[in-house]
Amino acid sequence: MAEGHYQVLARTWRPQAFDEVVGQQHITRTLQNAIENQRIGHAYLFIGSRGIGKTTTARILAKALNCRSSDGPTPNPCGTCENCVSIAAGRNIDVLEIDGASNNSVDDVRQIRDNVRLVPSSSRYKIYVIDEVHQLSGAAFNALLKTLEEPPAHAVFILATTEAHKVPATIISRCQRYDFRRVGQEDICALLRRILDQEKVTCSDEVLYAIARAADGGIRDAESILEQLISYCGREITFKDVFEVLGLVDWAQLNALCDAILDADIATQLRLVEDIVATGKDLSQFVQDIIRYFRNLLVCKTAGARIPELLALPGHEIAAMQERADRFLLTRLIQLIEQFAELSKGFDSQLAQRIALETLLIRVSKVAVEVSVDTVLEKLVQLGAGGVGPVAAATPPAAQTAQAGKGGKGEGKSSPPKRAPAPHQAPAQCPEHESPAASSCATVSETNLREAWLRVTEKAGAENLNLGIWLGQASPAAIENETILLDFTHDQQNARTYLERPENRAAVERILRTWTANLTGYRTRVNGDSPESPRPAREAPPRAAAAHVNPELARQALEDPHIAKVVDIFKGEIVDIKHHIKE
Ligand SMILES: [Zn+2]
Repeated sequence: MAEGHYQVLARTWRPQAFDEVVGQQHITRTLQNAIENQRIGHAYLFIGSRGIGKTTTARILAKALNCRSSDGPTPNPCGTCENCVSIAAGRNIDVLEIDGASNNSVDDVRQIRDNVRLVPSSSRYKIYVIDEVHQLSGAAFNALLKTLEEPPAHAVFILATTEAHKVPATIISRCQRYDFRRVGQEDICALLRRILDQEKVTCSDEVLYAIARAADGGIRDAESILEQLISYCGREITFKDVFEVLGLVDWAQLNALCDAILDADIATQLRLVEDIVATGKDLSQFVQDIIRYFRNLLVCKTAGARIPELLALPGHEIAAMQERADRFLLTRLIQLIEQFAELSKGFDSQLAQRIALETLLIRVSKVAVEVSVDTVLEKLVQLGAGGVGPVAAATPPAAQTAQAGKGGKGEGKSSPPKRAPAPHQAPAQCPEHESPAASSCATVSETNLREAWLRVTEKAGAENLNLGIWLGQASPAAIENETILLDFTHDQQNARTYLERPENRAAVERILRTWTANLTGYRTRVNGDSPESPRPAREAPPRAAAAHVNPELARQALEDPHIAKVVDIFKGEIVDIKHHIKE
C-alpha cells in the first residue's frame, strides 16, 4: 500500500476544528459547551475503537485550550496562530503526545510527574495526551493516579484508550469520560464524497457504501481504503475496482450463491466455492460475507420501516435484497445464518457473535407467531404442489370483503362477518364474489377435494389465523355424504386436538357450509386409524412439569397448540405457569 501517499491524504483531511470531526457530535458539542462555560477539566478519558477520531479530537481540544486568538480557551480555535499551527503539526512543546504502549513503565510516568510541575512555556496549559493508556503498568497507573489527584492548575491530561475495561476504576473516576462511537455509514460516505470532490475523483454511491462497509465504522480505515483506490484507479473508481483492491467477494457472487441455495442447485454452489478458491480469496472471509449477506436478508424480512436505517444501503440494493428475502421462510433464513455462524465459530469473529445474538433475539421474539405462519405457508405450498399450482400464500383480504359482500346486509364492506350464519341458511346460498364459476361454493367431490380444501383453509385463515394454520396440517382423505374425512399423522396430534374442540369445530363447520355446496361437517383420524375421538394431546406428557408445577396445569398448557409448538421447537419444558389476565 502506498503508505506515504495515504499519510498525505489523512493529514490533508485531518479535522482541524470540532465541527469537522465526523460522527462524534455528542462529544464535540459537549466539549465546546464546557469550554464556553469555562469548565475545563484536568483529566479527560477518550474511549473508543481505533481510527474514529480520539487523537484528532484531543489535538483540537489542545488547540482550543491554548489558541492565542482569544484571551482564554475558545470553542473555536483559529487554526492559524502559532500555537494552533504547531499543535496541529505535533511539535508544540507544551502539548506532549505520549504512546502509552511504549512508555508504560513507572519511570516514564514519574518523568511526566516531574515535568508537569513546570509551568508551560508559551501557553495557558501543559497538555499530556497519553494514547493507549490501558497499556501502562500497575505501578505506572499508581504514579499517574497521584498526579491526577493533585494536578497543578495548568495541567490537562487527555487519556485515550481502546480498552477502557483495562483502565483502573480509580483512574476512570478522576476523569471526564467520553465514549467515541463507531461512525455511521451515511457519515462516512458523506466524508468520502467531500474528499473525492476535492480531489476531483468520480465514483458511484455504491463505491462509497462498499468502502464504508469495509471500514466498518472507522474513519481512518475508510480514508486509507480510499487512498489505496485513488492510487490504483486514478480519476475514476468503479464498483469492480473496490472488490479487486479490497479482495472482497463480489455481491453478484453472493446473490448467485443465494439463488443456488433457494433452488437447491448444489452444482452451482460448489462452482462458486471453486471460483472463490481459484481467485485466491480467503474462505473464512467468504463465510463472513455470506453471514453478513443473510443477516441483511433477515433484516429485510423483519425490520419493516427501519430497514434503510439498519442496512444503510442504496435503495435499489435494498429492493433487490427484499425480493430475495421474500423467497425465504423466516425460519429457514434463521437456520441458514445459524449454520454459517456455527461454521465460522472457529474464526472467533465479532460478526459471528453479533449474528448469533441477533438471530436468537429474533427467534425468541418472533418464533411463536412466525413459525406457525411458516407452517401454514409450507402446507399451502405442499397442497398446491398436489394439483392446484402455486397458491397465493397468505389469506387475502379480498376473501374477507367478499364474504361481507352479499350475505352481510348492511355490514361494513371491510369487516368480515363475525357471527355464524343462521342455521336455516341454505348451503347453496354462498356469498358471491370473485368469479362465481370458480371453485367457491362448488360441490366438493373426490376429484376437486384438494382444491376445495385449500380454499376452505384460506377462508378459515382469513377469519382466524390459528384456524387456518391448524387446518393447513390436515390432509383431506375422502367425502362421506356431507362430511369430509381429515387425515393427520401422529406428529399432527396437536392440530387434530385443536380442531376437535367444540368452538373450533363450530367455526370450521360454518365455513364449510358457507364455502362449499355440499359439506356440513368433518371427521378426523390419525392416518389409517378408525375415525374416533382424538387421543389425548400427548400420551406421555412430553418434557412436562418440573416438580413444583401442578402436573394437571402443565398438561392443560400443553394442550394449547402454541405452547406445545414452542416446547417442541425449543426442546423445552414447562417450569412455571403464571396466570395472565387478557384484556
Ligand atoms: Zn489559534
